[in-house]
Amino acid sequence: MTAPLDDLHCHLDFVRDPAAIVRNARAAGSSLFANTVTPAGYERAQALLADLVSSEPIAKAPILRLGCGFHPWYASPDALDDALEQIDTCAFVGEVGMDFGTRGICAPAEQVRLFSVLMRRVARSEGRVVSIHSVGAVRETLDVLEETGALARATCVFHWFSGPSDQLKRAIDAGCWFSVGPLMAASRRGRAYIQAIPLDRMLLETDAPPTPAGTVPARPDRRTAPAPDVDYTFADLSRGLARACAVVREVKGAQIAAHPNRYPRRLRDADPADILHENAVAVLCGRV
Ligand SMILES: [Zn+2]
Repeated sequence: MTAPLDDLHCHLDFVRDPAAIVRNARAAGSSLFANTVTPAGYERAQALLADLVSSEPIAKAPILRLGCGFHPWYASPDALDDALEQIDTCAFVGEVGMDFGTRGICAPAEQVRLFSVLMRRVARSEGRVVSIHSVGAVRETLDVLEETGALARATCVFHWFSGPSDQLKRAIDAGCWFSVGPLMAASRRGRAYIQAIPLDRMLLETDAPPTPAGTVPARPDRRTAPAPDVDYTFADLSRGLARACAVVREVKGAQIAAHPNRYPRRLRDADPADILHENAVAVLCGRV
């Protein structure tokens, strides 16, 4: 019996029937960390999923956690105060971060300012879990996490890491976690990163559903978060997780088999999928 697959970064508030996904995930034993992208989106997701979110500090899997988000593609600086209020009441924060590519709603300097304010608030208390977007900005993201104290006080999870390898090493050395999805696992660089990331710091994710076409318009002033109308099911989500897990199992299995003495017994003897599940439960229960 293999362990259930858990999704540590998905967007249930973009799908038409999020409650159906959660019910099916529970039946399969899968835990979920549902991210949101704006304070308004978090409020909407809270209303949609209120009865299904697991609020216990230490619960048995499967678990649903809901993150309050402030995504660099969608969150307006006007919503910063709402985001700070939400962070004060929510142990799970995501999706937050910075994007210095073409899709950021604000210029890089403003993104650094906003992200610093958010992370200073995260660092006010111990043990929050933060799911982090860092496209084109990994060095600056790590700088902010370090300077604000969030790196030391929170469980920082880089979602779909795509930065340079020296910054990957820096994040690993700093104790960060990494959530790996099917698209990352399918790329050559993603596989190299899966090799470099320690298995006991790795999680699975889907980032599902795929961003619907047209929801990231070129003009930032027209930007709105995706409407909650994507047809997406737990079967779709499971397929994505299974693809990512198969690559992790193959890459990590070969690595451990080649040099068994470099790994503690826990990693050596287990199916990598079991370790990924243990990791997910530990992160979602705040036990790391
Ligand atoms: Zn995302």
